[in-house]
Amino acid sequence: MNNRILCVLTILFAAGFCLAQTGAPHEIPVFDASAMDKSADPCVDFYQYACGTWMKNNPIPPDKSRWGRFDELAEHNLYILRDILTDAQAAGNHSPIESMIGAYYAFCMDEAAIEKKGTAPLMPELEKIAAIATKADLIQQVAYMHRNGTSALFAFYSQPDMHDSGATIAYLDQGGLSLPDRDYYLKDDPKSVETRQKYLEHVQKMFELVGDKPETAAAEAKTVLNAETGLAQASMDRTLRRDPKTRDHKMTVAEIAGQASNFDLLRYFAGNGSPKFSSLNVGNPDFFKQVNEQIGSVPLDDWKVYLRWKTIDEYAPALTKAFVDEDFLFNGRYMSGQQEIEPRWKRCVKSTDSSLGMALGKLYVDRTFGAEGKERTLKMVQAIEDAMHEDIGDLSWMSEATKKKAHEKLNTIVNNIGYPDIWRDYSSIAVRPDDFAGNRMRARAFEVRRIYNKIDRPTDRKDWTMTPPTVNAYYRPPMNDINLPAGILQPPFYSKMMDDAVNYGGIGVVIGHELTHGFDDQGRKYDAEGNFRDWWTPEDAKEFERRADCTANEYSSFVSVKDDKGEVKLNGKLTLGENTADNGGLKLAYIALMHAIGNTAVKPIDTYTAQQRFFLAFGQIWCQNVTDQEARKRALTDPHSPGRWRVNGTVQNSAAFQQAFGCKASQPMVAENACRVW
Ligand SMILES: [Zn+2]
Repeated sequence: MNNRILCVLTILFAAGFCLAQTGAPHEIPVFDASAMDKSADPCVDFYQYACGTWMKNNPIPPDKSRWGRFDELAEHNLYILRDILTDAQAAGNHSPIESMIGAYYAFCMDEAAIEKKGTAPLMPELEKIAAIATKADLIQQVAYMHRNGTSALFAFYSQPDMHDSGATIAYLDQGGLSLPDRDYYLKDDPKSVETRQKYLEHVQKMFELVGDKPETAAAEAKTVLNAETGLAQASMDRTLRRDPKTRDHKMTVAEIAGQASNFDLLRYFAGNGSPKFSSLNVGNPDFFKQVNEQIGSVPLDDWKVYLRWKTIDEYAPALTKAFVDEDFLFNGRYMSGQQEIEPRWKRCVKSTDSSLGMALGKLYVDRTFGAEGKERTLKMVQAIEDAMHEDIGDLSWMSEATKKKAHEKLNTIVNNIGYPDIWRDYSSIAVRPDDFAGNRMRARAFEVRRIYNKIDRPTDRKDWTMTPPTVNAYYRPPMNDINLPAGILQPPFYSKMMDDAVNYGGIGVVIGHELTHGFDDQGRKYDAEGNFRDWWTPEDAKEFERRADCTANEYSSFVSVKDDKGEVKLNGKLTLGENTADNGGLKLAYIALMHAIGNTAVKPIDTYTAQQRFFLAFGQIWCQNVTDQEARKRALTDPHSPGRWRVNGTVQNSAAFQQAFGCKASQPMVAENACRVW
């Protein structure tokens, strides 16, 4: 849905557990000296020093496109979730929640039943599209598809009002693409040209699978690419969209309906299942103006081909092996470099999490987390918040007036830890035997309805956008909250068995990272209530921008991938918020650790001082191997830097790091002009 405003930490952490690649989880130490490459010099390449042996010994498993420490933890969680789902199907008394998730998983696993049904789940959907007789009916079909969670043409959702965050309103925005970014349609370098060719072949094969003749399917694929290229040309670049003012266009329903008459938006709003409303925010009004012309000029039959494609693409993972395999060959193997598809059970656990995640998540929390976990995390959050107050107070470049507002904002941040206070009630979703595709669609429709029903209601700041087993965390500027799902808050990422240095280098840095998001290039533009409002003095804002530019330029020089298709550098502006949060998070956690240690003389452990263990624990969170294809895709689309630069990029700006390892001014891990925002 509307994840684009989330500044998500795609980190997962230093897992206390890891998976043998062939089977069940086994425990590994959170701070792992055997993962290091001690032949490397920490002041020359700290990432290699912290992770070198791990990277050598942990090739990417064939069913993954990236394999790192946090993927290990996510994989570990999959095994726990499978146990829960298997138990839920076993004979005996089960709660309604257990019965529902057990049944959903079982019907997903029943490949024989899915094969037997063939394309039957898809056909009624395609027949609806075939029956469209006029352009006016097109929008009715788009409304129907959106109501059922199938993306097409543009996006519609709910979000807090940018200027009155206490109220949630409707949002209309650009959308409708199938490739991961507009650049895939618009760039003319050899790799982009190749990708479009492969995409054409993939779309053609999918049309053939629903019974179209090869020559028809080939023409249809071209029609799809043309339609989506038009949408891409009208779409705003994702780096520009980082600035909230580019997305800030509140207007009345009548205004946008008038500006984009071919869309027939009044009919769309009446038919998409949302409550009635009179005003909304339009993320990119130009998109609607441009596509309005496209709707007029492109023949109706072409639009029907596009809608057919969006439907087939949406249903593919829930259909027969032929669809699943073709979907994987393009999206998994070609786009991400994944060699094999994940075993069915992993895909079905993920599907259950995606469809009924708050029910599955409740059972996960009961099994793994509990009140004690919440309490210890809150303590750590408090310590990092204290460190941030101190850091703000010490900033030499910021005026007292702006500092006061920054302290206020920090004091207002809501900490959502582990799991939601109120669990979602899925009882209205029908989970039916032998109908995996239908079950999946009904769950999506439920989620869409839930999001639409927030329109013109008070903002629910306690609502979660990630399920509890998720190994990730996020900050939401309009909510001014940090959210740490139970999935990442487990030993030994944070372990009672470990010393403070290691825990602060792990979960401490993550918490600091999320808090810093409230003050990065996007977050700083929202006030304590989550309103898009400038609370900075002009001089302080100018100084922030100067410092942020330093970070953006620094990261733009880092190479993400270099292969036979050429070299791709990081986009320092796209990754600015995450890099700011990485640098800030490391600093805040370090300050908090120094307070925790106080005047105590901490003895080195395994010859490493507390300071060194802090930085090593942090570095080892990010040990990872990535396919070239995945690295390429992420360089275009991911606001996060790859592991190597999350580590080396931050430590080269950190005087505390350089002191801990005795690095000298001319060495690579000592930036000549260290960038420092927070
Ligand atoms: Zn982040």
